[in-house]
Amino acid sequence: MIDNPTLTAQTRFTGTLFERDDEGYENARIGRVFHSRYPDRFPPAVLMAETENDIVEGVRLAKERGWKVGIRSGGHSFPVWGVRDDALLIDLGGYKEFSLDENTGVVSVTPSVQGGSELGVYLEQFGRFFPGGPCPTVGIGGFLLQGGMGWNHRGWGWASEQVLAIDVVTADGDLVRADADQNSDLFWAARGAGPGFCGVITRFHLQTRPLPKALTGTMQIYPVERYAEILEWLSEAQKDIAPSVHLVAVSMNPQFEIPGHAGGYVFAVWGLAFCDTREEAEQALAPLATAPYCEHALIVNNAQPTTMQSEYEFVDVTHPKGFRYRVESAWVEGPYEKIAAAAQTLVMDRPSNEPGHTFFQYTLPHEGPDQAMSLMTEMMVGVYIIYSDAADDEKYRQWSLGAMKHLEPYTKGQYWGDSDQQHRRVKCLSDDAWERLQVIRADRDPEGVFADYLAGAGGYQNINEWETPDGVNLTNTMSQPV
Ligand SMILES: Cc1cc2nc3c(=O)[nH]c(=O)nc-3n(C[C@H](O)[C@H](O)[C@H](O)COP(=O)(O)OP(=O)(O)OC[C@H]3O[C@@H](n4cnc5c(N)ncnc54)[C@H](O)[C@@H]3O)c2cc1C
Repeated sequence: MIDNPTLTAQTRFTGTLFERDDEGYENARIGRVFHSRYPDRFPPAVLMAETENDIVEGVRLAKERGWKVGIRSGGHSFPVWGVRDDALLIDLGGYKEFSLDENTGVVSVTPSVQGGSELGVYLEQFGRFFPGGPCPTVGIGGFLLQGGMGWNHRGWGWASEQVLAIDVVTADGDLVRADADQNSDLFWAARGAGPGFCGVITRFHLQTRPLPKALTGTMQIYPVERYAEILEWLSEAQKDIAPSVHLVAVSMNPQFEIPGHAGGYVFAVWGLAFCDTREEAEQALAPLATAPYCEHALIVNNAQPTTMQSEYEFVDVTHPKGFRYRVESAWVEGPYEKIAAAAQTLVMDRPSNEPGHTFFQYTLPHEGPDQAMSLMTEMMVGVYIIYSDAADDEKYRQWSLGAMKHLEPYTKGQYWGDSDQQHRRVKCLSDDAWERLQVIRADRDPEGVFADYLAGAGGYQNINEWETPDGVNLTNTMSQPV
């Protein structure tokens, strides 16, 4: 397997290999983690890769040394999945390349590139756009492997639906192209397997779309006590709102003055129309301007011209770097008034005063391509508790478990991006997709070169822990908060 056995571990890489006792190891282990709740796990070595060949050689080195392989692209995963005790961590942060084919609109881009701050800015100069995560610093690597809830997920579906091909280093240490015609099992798996993919992706080939010419936003802010009536109306009405509108309702602690508001949480409705003309955008956002609860608004900004830069800035402020994060989410389905009641604790009683939030994100049903990511409903409820003090870790962990429990009667599963299976076992894929994925992983990586899903005892099983094996929900009779 070794191309040149006379090379030492250090000289075979363009990038740098840090072993446990090396100066710089600790920074290599956690320096690129977005948040500050660092794991107590220590890889035998960290390879700060700079080239595609470094990644190939990294996988080969791990095999020679009997290590597994963990991977980091953008460094945003909340459980820090790539940092494992028994795995060489291959960090792709020093390997950033973009190249757009202006004739086809296909961009080839390496996984550590940030979806907004880097890919978005690069594409803008060509008048092109890719729906990365609204938080501009999320790496496209982990994001696309999870499916990717990017801008206007509601109308455009998973960001992974725009992946045309990937380049992958396999468990044999070979670099291959995977697309609809070759290595199609890897191509299927890479669009949804999340943090248990059986390879290292070195490059994505993505279909971009034209940058919308008349990006237009509506932002309305209400007293938080109004959240239930707003949610009930919006959840029904959104079915008829144009698919060009990214639509989110969010309980937040505003980081700015609001006239008439004494402090504490507010409930905001945020619509962003990805349209090419002002008229089209105003029409798309019009239902929000005439909603029955509008008279109670503290702030109304209906259908205002905006830019991607200012939308990214807004999201960036609400997701500060370097804090501790406790995150949860649920794909929910059921009567809207019951879901609203079950979400009351999440909306009204979040324990941290720092800039956390609870959001409701909408998706329209659509037929996507055949890919591993296969689980969603029309509404996601998510919570981000953002705080500073490590002494609060357990308190917030317990609080989030309790708050999510109220939603279990309506929960179908969870998005990989918000999941921590060491803490709460929730389904991230459909049963069929999980079964198919296990066959692919066993076939492509029989010796388990790539680190398995990070989970509690028994490993990841794609189950909702409150359901029986045949899917009976044991919490259906649980009393709900009012
Ligand atoms: C502040 C914040 C906001 C977020 N907002 C959104 C959002 O709006 N929408 C959304 O969908 N998600 C969002 N997320 C979740 C985010 O998409 C996931 O955390 C995702 O894993 C981040 O990708 P990454 O490359 O930055 O992370 P990393 O921690 O680098 O990677 C996560 C895991 O993905 C796998 N992986 C990454 N790269 C590769 C590769 N090249 N080959 C094989 N496996 C790989 C590995 O298992 C790795 O451990 C957010 C996260 C944060 C912290």
